[in-house]
Amino acid sequence: MNTLNNFEPGHKHPCLCGSGKRFKRCCLGKYSSRAQNDAFKEFNNGNYKNALEHCRHHITWYLLCHRAHTIPFLSSGMPEAEELLRIDILAMADLVDLLHLCYFRNNISADFPDALSFLEHAISDPRWNVVINYQKALWYLVDKNDRSNAYQEISKIDIKECDYAEALTLYLDVVPDEISFTDKQSIIDRIIQNTTKESYILQYTIVKGISFCLIGEVDKGCNIIESAINHYKELDEHSIYGDYMLAHALETLGELRNDKHLIGDAIELYKREIDANSYSPSGLAMLLKSIGDCYLFISDYPTAISYYESSLTKESNDLTRVFLSRALVNNGKLYECRKMLATLKIEKFNDANKYDYAISWAILALLSLEQRDIQTAKARLKEVKTSDYLFIRQRDNYIIELLELTAKEEQSFIIKALGKLNRYVTLNPNFFGIGLNINNIIEDIETNKSK
Ligand SMILES: [Zn+2]
Repeated sequence: MNTLNNFEPGHKHPCLCGSGKRFKRCCLGKYSSRAQNDAFKEFNNGNYKNALEHCRHHITWYLLCHRAHTIPFLSSGMPEAEELLRIDILAMADLVDLLHLCYFRNNISADFPDALSFLEHAISDPRWNVVINYQKALWYLVDKNDRSNAYQEISKIDIKECDYAEALTLYLDVVPDEISFTDKQSIIDRIIQNTTKESYILQYTIVKGISFCLIGEVDKGCNIIESAINHYKELDEHSIYGDYMLAHALETLGELRNDKHLIGDAIELYKREIDANSYSPSGLAMLLKSIGDCYLFISDYPTAISYYESSLTKESNDLTRVFLSRALVNNGKLYECRKMLATLKIEKFNDANKYDYAISWAILALLSLEQRDIQTAKARLKEVKTSDYLFIRQRDNYIIELLELTAKEEQSFIIKALGKLNRYVTLNPNFFGIGLNINNIIEDIETNKSK
């Protein structure tokens, strides 16, 4: 019989879970199949230390099962063994994700790379190496806020062959702008094909639709977004993250089609999300800002201002101020708008945020017609980096308008909409940075697993 204890490491050897402790002092006598449920329970109750221990015990149990069952089965050469190996890799990938959360919440993030280096040898398969590379990249992105190292790390994966959806979403998030339309489509399609999460399918189908809009195929892009919305609405089970994405999808489609009804639906959904009480303060800040964006689009500037301001009371965010400034200037508050834009710390902005910032200056300049605003706006617009056709066109339109200073015409709806689309395209994957209440993310993971 292949009992698990035949596969245990020696008592003085390092534990399988990657804690760095000896097996005897870590998971010996404690590993079990139930540990994962205990880990979720403790995590949801905020007992992160216990959650980490249970998570480690479950990892050890899983790896012993892998040694006892999957590896011998693989050497038998039976085709079903390959499927078992695939299941092991995906299950372990989820466990390492939970482990990452536990390290983060216990403020021992700095030790996580060591755990990963140890776990790298736990399963012998190139797909497992992809999972480890992804976690290293995620650590740089989320724990260290270091996009360039995150990109370096994720680039070690053969992206053209990769079918691990999580790794692909992270790659899309950190890749510099010069990725080609075709490469981007191929990655997005593989994310949609390889994820079991409906919220991801919705999110990345929208991203796909937007990338068509960005090359000028707006009708086609809108149809793609609309079908994703309809697909999600018909599902029996909805997740919190999925519902948030649905509101965002309605907002985007409403802006692209200049359809106020859709914007109204989006506002209603965002408000419902706020009432659901499932969000952390930064999650609430994000929702309130989104509602502000909706009111800004339908030109209800006083309401937009009040939502942006309440968003800022939940969490200070200079990007929110970039959009608040637009509502202010449209509401006749030129001085406040200028003062706000001039004091923002833009060093931390990425290219998409800098783009939005430049557009805000342009809007101010076109309304104030003051020389200093015009000079600043032109300088900011010239610095903008973007490779997307529609954004280039929008930027150039603003530069031309500023150069000619013709009588201000009503902005076309497409130009209004595009001021914020770029950020959407690079929307973060659903990790703990997004600001949703972490307990619900865990429940979300469980729900998705049971399907
Ligand atoms: Zn252990």
